[in-house]
Amino acid sequence: MTALLEVNHLVRHYPVRQPGSLWGKPATLRAVNDVSFHLPPGKTLGLVGESGCGKSTTARLVLGLLPPTSGEVLFEGSPVPARNGAAWRALRRRMQMVYQDPLGALDRRLPVATQVAEPLLVVGQGTAAERKEQARDLMSAVGLPQHLFERYPHELSGGQRQRVVLARALILRPSLLVCDEPISALDVSIQAQVINLLQDMQEQRHVALLFISHDLKVVRQVSDEVAVMYLGRIIEQGPPEELFQRPLHPYTQALVSAIPSPWRGKSERRIMLEGDPPNPVNIPPGCAFHPRCPSAMPVCSQQRPELAAVDSGRLAACHLLTPTSTETAC
Ligand code: SF4
Repeated sequence: MTALLEVNHLVRHYPVRQPGSLWGKPATLRAVNDVSFHLPPGKTLGLVGESGCGKSTTARLVLGLLPPTSGEVLFEGSPVPARNGAAWRALRRRMQMVYQDPLGALDRRLPVATQVAEPLLVVGQGTAAERKEQARDLMSAVGLPQHLFERYPHELSGGQRQRVVLARALILRPSLLVCDEPISALDVSIQAQVINLLQDMQEQRHVALLFISHDLKVVRQVSDEVAVMYLGRIIEQGPPEELFQRPLHPYTQALVSAIPSPWRGKSERRIMLEGDPPNPVNIPPGCAFHPRCPSAMPVCSQQRPELAAVDSGRLAACHLLTPTSTETAC
């Protein structure tokens, strides 16, 4: 299937001052290091990993909100143009974002119906009456009762606000929704409703999702493909059922072992990783995971394993795994 979104060898570095070194050469923070993936239309790619692993920076690079240090993002085969130009603004209609904090994403001074209709006004679509009708139809479709349409964001619950954000993101009929931790600010009781709504909307509108979350259970439920990131790189990728049932990379094994499950046997113990992820300014040589890896070998601190096909439909970057082909991931 042709990719809607194609990300090739994406890199984003930042110059940073180290504490206590005001005058020297700035150090380099490697937020995203050679990330590649593709996303077909109407499908969901789940991006998981610990805080600071580069998930959100990847999302911003995909949307063109940040320029890459190197690499490219292709949308329907064409490079995403530079931010704020006419071509970028036209493309942004097709790529929308759902943020983690719905209250922060909404304007507290405007009724929610006005905010849902606003993207139509910005692109000059329809009359005022048509825009209002479209906004009301979409708000009904995402399950907001009519009596809330003219309310302000602070008068709504967290779940209702996230429905407003979703309606606003969908009103221009985008082909891609980038969801950055869309349920982590919501009560657990509301999370399932918002996830079901997202899936219903995806099915009805054939929109592709780049779904970023640290909630592995939710990622497993919504994704067609899952990519695990560690310190700016994808270290394992594959279909969710296989990846969660038989994780290949030691880091993924540790993440999966931490998912609470009443069905887990006594023999399936949680893998406790030692220490915190290293500072992305000082990424360890070789495999970046080697200081914490329970299976590390001498070669791991010297040679970085490439992300390669290791099983049918599976990619992983680990010296323990034998590549099934010489081809590395695209
Ligand atoms: Fe562990 Fe070595 Fe594999 Fe890295 S390459 S995950 S250190 S075994």
